[in-house]
Amino acid sequence: MATKKVYIETVGCQMNVLDSELVVGALRRDGYEITDTTADADVLLFNTCSVREHAEEKVYSALGRVGPLKRARPETVVGVLGCMAQKDQELIRKRAPFVDLVVGTGQLARVPELVEAVRRTRQPQYALSLGRTDAGRHEVEASFVSFDPARDATMRPTPFQAFVRVQIGCDKFCTYCVVPTTRGPEQSRPPEHILAEVRQLVDQGCKEVTLIGQTVNSYEFAHGDGRRTPLSALLAAMHDVPGLDRIKFVTNFPKDMTDDLLAAVRDLPKVMKYLHVPAQSGCDDVLKRMKRLYTAGEYVETLARCRELVPGVAVSSDFIVGFCGETEASFEKTMDLVRAARFKNSFIYKYSERPGTKAAERYPDDVPDGVKKRRNNDLLLVQNANSLADHRAQIGTTVEVLVEGPSKRELGKQTHGPQAAGFGVMQLTGRAMTDHIVVFDGTARLTGRTIRVRVEDASSFTLYGRVPTGEHVGGAAAVAVIPDADEAPAYPSPLDFGPPSEATLPGKRIGLPVV
Ligand code: SF4
Repeated sequence: MATKKVYIETVGCQMNVLDSELVVGALRRDGYEITDTTADADVLLFNTCSVREHAEEKVYSALGRVGPLKRARPETVVGVLGCMAQKDQELIRKRAPFVDLVVGTGQLARVPELVEAVRRTRQPQYALSLGRTDAGRHEVEASFVSFDPARDATMRPTPFQAFVRVQIGCDKFCTYCVVPTTRGPEQSRPPEHILAEVRQLVDQGCKEVTLIGQTVNSYEFAHGDGRRTPLSALLAAMHDVPGLDRIKFVTNFPKDMTDDLLAAVRDLPKVMKYLHVPAQSGCDDVLKRMKRLYTAGEYVETLARCRELVPGVAVSSDFIVGFCGETEASFEKTMDLVRAARFKNSFIYKYSERPGTKAAERYPDDVPDGVKKRRNNDLLLVQNANSLADHRAQIGTTVEVLVEGPSKRELGKQTHGPQAAGFGVMQLTGRAMTDHIVVFDGTARLTGRTIRVRVEDASSFTLYGRVPTGEHVGGAAAVAVIPDADEAPAYPSPLDFGPPSEATLPGKRIGLPVV
């Protein structure tokens, strides 16, 4: 019997990227192979994001493109997974009536079983979790399964890096955000499950784990006997796992940044000295309408505490521009915050009204799109200048880099010859312990290793370095810096952001991102 093939497109944050990895891993255990073309796929899956209208429309366009294929080959199973599925099942049925499978974020573990049900019965299958007000909290929680089965290293862009979910859902209810609806109540996974998963990943060759949760620093597992495990204790336990080199966690809710967590970041050498702490706005009135639960002054205090308790920590942030009622004066306060805060980088997005959110109910989306665009650009200019200053301050230092592989520029070049075989010198990319992207020359055989790189130049996005002469660079002599090469792998943005960006994933093993 011919092997069945699955094609998957992923939009959204790191949580979606992980979900896609797990769904494909489960289907592979059922005998499926991954394909990166729709033409030969038996199952076409779209793992979706509801955080911005743009991301949703991209999915409907993609569905529009597979419509003719489905008509020509009706046995092909077409599925919509994730946030849009949980939020808009009726609309999906209306706009793409040929869809066979609608599976919410909390039911993804059932995808293989549901695909088989479609193939067997030729009937559409729907699997959704309960809405936040459909039942009591316990029942609603139980309808969201965290879905963390055995990990499959071949499903990840690199075998030495992996996301690990420590928490699902969110209870913050920022007024612009759909996540508390689409991903349900906040629930922390038991530490022993997480540690077992990390050990399994290390056995598969994983060296760096990124712990993910919508507000990861509010992670706290109640054991039921009075004991509680906060994120700081989880990090300490994970730090003892032999073979694990690096631990990162995203993303943080400013108000939940505790001193014990910051002390853990400072004191545990394997924990990366990097914190993503989304501010969203520098104006108290806007923050109040967003229901972010802190003022700009409190955010600045949190930032100062991070830097005081973790010397040398790199901090990045998120901002939404053009939120309801954001005046020029409000926006100027955000500009002031970004000017003063010296973030390593910021993810900046234009506000996109989402039906069903409190913001959509309460406040008119009254900032014209042209103004949002201009504010986005203005803020980006300020941030880029700060990023450049932050990066230039690293020139002359030596950083420890986990080598992720050839840079994007290198990947665009020919795939034959000594480079492809891993012997020739090429441009490589990796991340420092502060999460800075570092580009340097070496051989592909360095991929997956941690090496020292001396920083010699910088742009707003990238540090350019050289492996110090005399150190092993995979059989090749250290070579000159190429300062115009501003290429690094594209990454999904962090999670705590009403609008997390569209994910891009290095490599094609779980299909291509749509946006
Ligand atoms: S923006 Fe983040 S903290 Fe706020 S509701 Fe959404 S996921 Fe939760």
